[in-house]
Amino acid sequence: MSEHHDVIVVGSGIAGLVAAYRLTRAGRSVRILEAGDQIGGRVGERDTRGIRYNTGARLLYPFSRPFNALLDDLGLTGDLIPVHHLSAQCIGPDGDWLVELMPGPKSLMTPGLSLGERLRFVPYGLSMLAARARTDPDDAASAPAADAEPLDAYTRRRMGPNVLARMVEPIFRGTRAWNAEEISAAFFASTTPHLIGKSHVNVLKGGMNQLPATLAQGSQVTCNARVLAVEDPSSGPCRVTARIGEDETVLSADHVLVAVEGDRAAPLLADLPPEDRAFLDSVRYNSLGVVHYRLSGDVPARMNFFARDGAGPIATYQQLPANAAKGQAAQIYAQLSPEAARHAAETGQTGDLHPIIEDQLRQLFPGFDAQYADRHTQWIQRKLPTFSTGYAMQAKAFRDRQDASARRVTFAGDYLQQSLVTGAAASGERAARRILGA
Ligand SMILES: Cc1cc2nc3c(=O)[nH]c(=O)nc-3n(C[C@H](O)[C@H](O)[C@H](O)COP(=O)(O)OP(=O)(O)OC[C@H]3O[C@@H](n4cnc5c(N)ncnc54)[C@H](O)[C@@H]3O)c2cc1C
Repeated sequence: MSEHHDVIVVGSGIAGLVAAYRLTRAGRSVRILEAGDQIGGRVGERDTRGIRYNTGARLLYPFSRPFNALLDDLGLTGDLIPVHHLSAQCIGPDGDWLVELMPGPKSLMTPGLSLGERLRFVPYGLSMLAARARTDPDDAASAPAADAEPLDAYTRRRMGPNVLARMVEPIFRGTRAWNAEEISAAFFASTTPHLIGKSHVNVLKGGMNQLPATLAQGSQVTCNARVLAVEDPSSGPCRVTARIGEDETVLSADHVLVAVEGDRAAPLLADLPPEDRAFLDSVRYNSLGVVHYRLSGDVPARMNFFARDGAGPIATYQQLPANAAKGQAAQIYAQLSPEAARHAAETGQTGDLHPIIEDQLRQLFPGFDAQYADRHTQWIQRKLPTFSTGYAMQAKAFRDRQDASARRVTFAGDYLQQSLVTGAAASGERAARRILGA
C-alpha cells in the first residue's frame, strides 16, 4: 500500500470538491481522485476549435443561503455577475409568446392563460410564499407531498392546463430537458417558493471553471485517476484501488467519500447493504444533446423555447453575438428536445447531431449556410438525475440510513439532494459534516 490519507474523495464534481474544501480546512489530509481529464464534473468550460461551451451548468441560482455563504468564504461573491431579464420567446404552432423564467407578477401576463388560471395565480403565489419557511431549495425531499405527484398532474391541478403547456413545459424542456410527466413536482415545489421575488441568476466573471478551480486550490487532486474499487473492511483502513495513468494503485484512508454520479457508485463497492444497492442502482439520468455552431459573421442575441405541441427536434435555440474583447466568434446553441435526444441515442447518431436538427435550424436562421464556419456536437450521457415520482423521499431514506450507519464510506452528489449546483454543494457539506463527526 503506497499512501495513506485521512480521506480519499472519489470524483471532483462540486459535491466532492465542496466536501474536500471543508475537510481540508478542518485539518484533514485529503486526496481527490478524478476519472476525467479536468476537475469540476458537470461544471466547467471547454474550447473546441474556437467553439466555447459549458460542460454542464451555465447559471448559479441565488436562493441557497449555505451556497452563498460558501461563495463568500471562497472570495467569489464579488465575481458574481447577475443576469437579469430572464425570459425567452416561446414558439408555438399558433404564434409566439414571451415566457418568464423567474416566477413573479409578470408570469400573470403570459398570453394564452384563461381568466380562471390568472385568478388562481394569486392564491397559488401566496401558498408558495408561505411554503418558504418549510422548504429548502437545496433538498427536493423538503416538499414531500409534491414528491407523490408528477409535475404535469400537479401543474394542471394547482394552476391549470395552459400554465403547463405555455409556461412549465417549455421552460422545463428548454432548461432541464425534462418532460413534466417524467418527474415529480418536488423540484418545482421546493425551489419555486425561493425564486419568487428574485429577478436574477448569476454567472461568474471568470466563467464556470472559476468555481471548481477556486474550491480545489490547496487540494491534492489527480485527474485521469479512475477509481475501480472501494473497500471498507471490518479491520484496518479503507482501501481504494485506482487506475492512475497506466498504473493500478491501492491507496488507504480512514474514510472514503464516493462523490461520483449515482449510477456509477454501486459498482465501486462489493459490499453494500441490499437496500442501499437497490437505491443506487435505481438512479437514472436524462441525456442531453447540443450542437454548437461557430459563425463567420455576427448575429443579434436571441433565445427561443418551443411549445411541446408540434415541436421540432430543437428545444432551445440561442444566438450568441460575437465578443471581440474576449476573442469570441458568434455562436449558435441548439439543444435537442428530450424526444430527439432519445431518438439520437436509439439510432446511434450521438456523434453528430446536426443532421437531426438542420432543417429546423435553417428555418430559425435562414442565413445559416452563408455564415456557417464550424460545429461541435456535445453529447452528455448524464445530464440530471431524474427525480421521478417518489424519488426524493427514497433519496432522503438513503441519506438517513447513511447518517445512522457506522460505515466509513460516505456518498454525496446532486442525486441525493437537488439536481442543481447548489444541491450538489449542499450534499458535499452534509458529507463533510458526517465525516468530521465520525
Ligand atoms: C448540461 C447541464 C446543464 C446544467 N445546468 C445547470 C444550471 O444552469 N444550474 C445549476 O445549478 N445546475 C445545472 N446543472 C446541474 C449541475 O451541473 C449538477 O447538479 C452538479 O454539477 C452535479 O455535481 P456532482 O458533484 O453531484 O456530480 P458530477 O459533477 O457529475 O461529479 C461526479 C464526478 O465523479 C467523477 N467520476 C465518476 N466515476 C469516477 C470514478 N470511478 N473514479 C473517479 N472519478 C469518477 C466524474 O468524472 C465527475 O467529475 C446542469 C447540468 C448539466 C449536465
